[in-house]
Amino acid sequence: MSSPIAHSLIGLALGLIRFLPHYRRWDELAGQFRALWRPLLFCVLLANAPDLDYFFGIFRGNVNYYHQTVTHTLIWIGVTALAIWAYGRFRERRASWLSLGLLLALLGSHLLADWLTVDCAPPIGLTLAWPFSDRLFNATWAFFPPPAKQTLAALWSLQNLRLVLVESAITLPLVIIVLWFKHGRAKH
Ligand SMILES: [Zn+2]
Repeated sequence: MSSPIAHSLIGLALGLIRFLPHYRRWDELAGQFRALWRPLLFCVLLANAPDLDYFFGIFRGNVNYYHQTVTHTLIWIGVTALAIWAYGRFRERRASWLSLGLLLALLGSHLLADWLTVDCAPPIGLTLAWPFSDRLFNATWAFFPPPAKQTLAALWSLQNLRLVLVESAITLPLVIIVLWFKHGRAKH
């Protein structure tokens, strides 16, 4: 699994692609961020949503108990995206196919990042095709480093500091590229 840093920055990049209009000046950009904070925050949260399974593990006394099971499958992200989309359509009557694409991309980005993360704790990988197959999927050339999360103290380890730096170095440029593409093309 990747940490919330990678998932959040990927979610932010996808949200900016969808919602940020083209802008010319930096103060315009700051204004857009202020205006768009709700949809952008929604994108960041949704890109992290599959890790809600940590929360259910608390009741079993082990946060990893359910981790990378049901919420890390293609069927779960499909059903969740459709449910949110149908709710938006019912309430606002303007949820488009593009919105459904964004929901799938946000939730799918989570599985993609986790698939690309070095997994050291068995079972290695994600059961993406559950309930149709129990096969585990993990990229052979996974490049996101594994997190240390065996204990609470391990969260503050040097290994995780390195993880934050590597993940930021890989995913922050995605946000910068989107901002760069949206700059200087505003129509007046
Ligand atoms: Zn995850």
